[in-house]
Amino acid sequence: MSKNYIIGFPRIGEQRELKKALESYWAKKSDFSEVKKVASELKKRHWEYQKDAGIEYISSNDFSLYDNVLDMAITLGAIPKRFQDLKDEGLYFAMTRGNQNAVAMEMTKWFNTNYHYIVPELSLEDSYKLNANKIIEEYKEAKAHGIKTKINIIGPITFLALSKRVDRGDTFELYSKILPVYEELLREIAELDDEITLQIDEPIFVKDLEPKVLSLIKPTYDKLARVSNTIKIAVISYFEHSCEASKILVNTPIWALGLDFVHGKENLNSLADIAAANKVLIAGVVDGRNIWKNDIDATLELLTIIEKEISKEKLLISSSSSLLHTPYTLKYEEKMNSEVKNWLSYAVEKLDETALISKLFFNGYEALSSKEKEQLEANRAANKSRKSSPLIHDLAVQKRVHNIKKLSRDGVYEERIKIQKELLGYKDLATTTIGSFPQTPEVRHARREFKNGDLTQEAYTQEMKNYIDDCVAFQEECGIEVLVHGEPERNDMVEYFGEQLQGYGFSQNGWVQSYGSRCVKPPFIYGDISRPKPMTVDWITYAQSKTDKIMKGMLTGPVTILNWSFVRDDMSRGDVSKQIALAICDEVDDLQNAGIKMIQVDEAAFKEGYPLRAAKVSAYEDFAVRDFKISVSSARKETQIHTHMCYSEFNDIIATIEAMDADVISIETARSGNELLKIFAQVGYKQEVGPGVYDIHSPRIPSVEEIVKQIHSLLEVLPKEQLWINPDCGLKTRKYEEVKPSLKNMVEAVKIVRKELS
Ligand code: GLN
Ligand code: ZN
Repeated sequence: MSKNYIIGFPRIGEQRELKKALESYWAKKSDFSEVKKVASELKKRHWEYQKDAGIEYISSNDFSLYDNVLDMAITLGAIPKRFQDLKDEGLYFAMTRGNQNAVAMEMTKWFNTNYHYIVPELSLEDSYKLNANKIIEEYKEAKAHGIKTKINIIGPITFLALSKRVDRGDTFELYSKILPVYEELLREIAELDDEITLQIDEPIFVKDLEPKVLSLIKPTYDKLARVSNTIKIAVISYFEHSCEASKILVNTPIWALGLDFVHGKENLNSLADIAAANKVLIAGVVDGRNIWKNDIDATLELLTIIEKEISKEKLLISSSSSLLHTPYTLKYEEKMNSEVKNWLSYAVEKLDETALISKLFFNGYEALSSKEKEQLEANRAANKSRKSSPLIHDLAVQKRVHNIKKLSRDGVYEERIKIQKELLGYKDLATTTIGSFPQTPEVRHARREFKNGDLTQEAYTQEMKNYIDDCVAFQEECGIEVLVHGEPERNDMVEYFGEQLQGYGFSQNGWVQSYGSRCVKPPFIYGDISRPKPMTVDWITYAQSKTDKIMKGMLTGPVTILNWSFVRDDMSRGDVSKQIALAICDEVDDLQNAGIKMIQVDEAAFKEGYPLRAAKVSAYEDFAVRDFKISVSSARKETQIHTHMCYSEFNDIIATIEAMDADVISIETARSGNELLKIFAQVGYKQEVGPGVYDIHSPRIPSVEEIVKQIHSLLEVLPKEQLWINPDCGLKTRKYEEVKPSLKNMVEAVKIVRKELS
């Protein structure tokens, strides 16, 4: 018998069918029955994929029309007041997307993934009431297709930890209101069948938990596990180790613990406790966060270690997390280099791997069918080829990394900024933008046609140059002081560089759900990274030739490139980002040699890469700072280095930001007045700062008065010599109709403030 387990499956559809159905319904081109039809087809197909692969534990309720945290909130009756007149799909989509009368609920990142969940809103005065329809129906739906599923739900502790209080205060104050609803849910679930497996996701257990939260684990699972002896509860965590929680969970009457052994090797320390308590271990050994083929022989070795403590009868082989975070199937990848493709495994392929590993582990090689033996041989060959392929292993890169001497630029900040101010002659409160200008339909069209081969290189270059001409002319007309070229040639700030770097791969259909119907297609780093030739120099020097003002070069930093890609797993993340840093360092040098005097190295995703565990933070910060510094180490003292970060909360990381030693940093503080800027003053931050003066995420045009007020409030915190004036992020998603008046107002506001100050 197969003893394997899949935590959850992606739901958007292998060709993004759900996305298309939802978006067509939202655009009123079809009605809701069409969405429901597509959803049923998808669920059926996903169950069949898993069944056909030989998976024993297949989920229901891992499907969602938008988000499964939202689904859990609805199950518990946690409906914010402003939506209470609505029901069914009207209610559901108003919560996610807002309507005329009510703003949408907030959305935020799910742990360290790029998946975003809807943040439940709780309040002490609300009462909560069970609505188990979705869970019950999905279970029955699967059963009608002949599949007895395990049921997935989000656990109460994670639910409370991820929710927010609209009446301020601690969400755990609602524990005594929420837990009874969970108990009732379990009672309803128990009615469904003679025996039910219930997967309760508690990913919050992988964080450093406060004693107060830890103290809730035992009473919660004592209670839930006692609701019915026909429910087998598996408590699952992922993305890190959850050793503290495991120690407590083994002393409750739950059936199993699911632990991630790919991203939380420390979980090995929990094995003895699990064995002593005679619990089942669901061992997450197939990576749910990455796209590489499992190294089956290595996994078997890991399982042998686990088996020293946990007997085979008490062991299940599982994905490390839901497969939601991987793309669907390699089936549609037709253009990829076949050698590279052979190293990959998406969700559907991971099902086969999981099944094969469990068969091999539990029944032995002899029990494999000849097809399975072939699969195993193919897996071994692929892993062997990855270890030696010249596509991956570039000796020149390795040698360069090994011999790297120059880790930072010349000169301390005080010396550099003096030289720069003299040479570059910009004023206090100098105006600039973050890099991109609106991506017009024409520009998108030209890029697409060029990619498809329908536009010649010359015609394409001309189109881009026309855009740059207009963009430069507009900035001059409007009186911006430090210009940018507008980034028309970039579809995406990581993809653009990835496409030009050796060692980077791209998929055709590697979509991963980001939020609701939105998906992203992260590029992947498969080999040693090098830069065959300059990547931005032609565009930037062209733009510079069109103006006497300073043209700021625009690059993406190594840590952001790393954090927004699937990364090879045969090398540490820090070693990969060091290679990227060297490539960027060469680009910085080429830009300055071509006469570019200011260069911005964006680290939009710097904060996203932070580990889930405090104990691992300093290792991340060490390599992130090191590699940012390497990436600009070629900059001469005169070359001014800017960076940009897409957030505003710097309180915990200000020392790290300072250590990056950029001459100028622009940040996203527009929505919080000057509150979040204060930390810069408190720590005596020396370098220059451009705290976004208006919010580019809204189509609203800020008035001159408003921006003047904003600048005044910035001046309460930092002196004018230290401040730059800019919008809070790139303008790519806006329209020119919004951008033009907004920037004009920004320049006008600066004039007014300068006059007041003189
Ligand atoms: N330079 C990039 C742009 O302006 C930065 C984008 C970002 O911060 N996400 O689009
Ligand atoms: Zn940004």
